[in-house]
Amino acid sequence: MTAPQQDTIKQLYDSHPLLNSLSATKEVCWLNPKLQRFTDVQVSLPLGASDIADAAERLQRFAPYIAKVFPETAASNGIIESPLTAIPQMQQTLQAFYGQTLSGRLFLKCDSHLPISGSIKARGGVYEVLKYAESVAMAAGLLTLKDNYQKIDSPPFKALFAKHSIVVGSTGNLGLSIGIMGAQLGFNVTVHMSADARAWKKDLLRSKGVRVVEHQDDYSKAVEQGRIEAQQTPNCHFVDDENSQDLFLGYSVAAERLKRQLDAQGICVDAAHPLFVYLPCGVGGGPGGVVFGLKQSFGDHVHCFFAEPTHSPCMLIGMYTGLHDGVSVQDFGIDNKTCADGLAVGRASAFVGRVMEPLLSGIYTMDDEHLYRLLALMRDSEDIELEPSALAGVAGMAQVKAAKDYLAQHKLTDNMTQAVHIVWATGGNMVPSAARLEYYEKGKALL
Ligand SMILES: *Cc1c(COP(=O)(O)O)cnc(C)c1O
Repeated sequence: MTAPQQDTIKQLYDSHPLLNSLSATKEVCWLNPKLQRFTDVQVSLPLGASDIADAAERLQRFAPYIAKVFPETAASNGIIESPLTAIPQMQQTLQAFYGQTLSGRLFLKCDSHLPISGSIKARGGVYEVLKYAESVAMAAGLLTLKDNYQKIDSPPFKALFAKHSIVVGSTGNLGLSIGIMGAQLGFNVTVHMSADARAWKKDLLRSKGVRVVEHQDDYSKAVEQGRIEAQQTPNCHFVDDENSQDLFLGYSVAAERLKRQLDAQGICVDAAHPLFVYLPCGVGGGPGGVVFGLKQSFGDHVHCFFAEPTHSPCMLIGMYTGLHDGVSVQDFGIDNKTCADGLAVGRASAFVGRVMEPLLSGIYTMDDEHLYRLLALMRDSEDIELEPSALAGVAGMAQVKAAKDYLAQHKLTDNMTQAVHIVWATGGNMVPSAARLEYYEKGKALL
């Protein structure tokens, strides 16, 4: 990707004044002027409900296999899902922290505790590996749609997959997900890690027989190197985090399941009971896939926001300028250095921002210290331990309260006491205890 000309950048600062605050790494909240009514855009979206249903069915086919090889999923019959938990104490704590009343009910979607890899990547990452495995096995005549997929856990399948490789570039969590799932099936997996990836993630992958290639550069470079290697390797599948529709659809399945969880808790979503969902955003596939699903399930009654670090606001810059992957945070002098591992991405996905254009309500940014403070508050109030990225959604409730024009425009002002707010906690359960303590103490020291 060639960098835009310097005078183009200069003009953008004039035409898009929020870029000044962004390049000064100030916390901002941007409301999306291109948001449209879902029924008006539904038909023009590149993917639809049938694509999500196809992904959900594929995950269902694999469920008996997953239950067998990952016993922690046996209780959910091999469906990889996380709890939706009310966090009333955290809501109280946040009122004191932000010094304002936050009405409605606050929930945490605990993807931080998803089985297999302890992050939201256990949705998209696992799904894409399974889809590839299914196509390889079917092409070899070893598998049909009618089979019980438990048979995949056997020597003929392992021997087949051993002749194939999977390559991915990652800041860590996607690598974990692809590596753990791919190695379990018997694939040769190579993970290209960006410089910011934590040592424990690399060690864990190596212990599972995954090849880890370390790069001195950031995420975009790691992905690029992975792509080049994959092109040169026969029988190789590249998990393209910057473009993959399979990842996106794997994430999108979360929405229908969330709807069922809300139903089970007697929570209704309609015009009088709006739903707000706050998702940490890196390259965009994870939160974008979930939002895509949420819009299919709840239409205009769901209001979706992304949250990014002040040092890595790639999706905000891409959507705000309309240039998407044509610009990077570095083009605006932003360093893409953040404690929020999964969010350290300088250039957004090529397609997610475009799909989000009519669907997303807005994006806000948070600095690292803000994330650490909330991390400590979450542990103190709810005894829930998360990684820094996963706290980005927590500021959403206060951001929405401040967005008075948005609330008025969508006739929400009088319904906010009946609102449900869901913070998507995207990771944390795999973090070793020493690192958890370090995060917590950092947050405590800042409070
Ligand atoms: C990957 C990740 C995200 C964001 O997902 P993207 O697809 O990169 O936007 C958020 N939080 C955590 C912990 C992650 O690992």
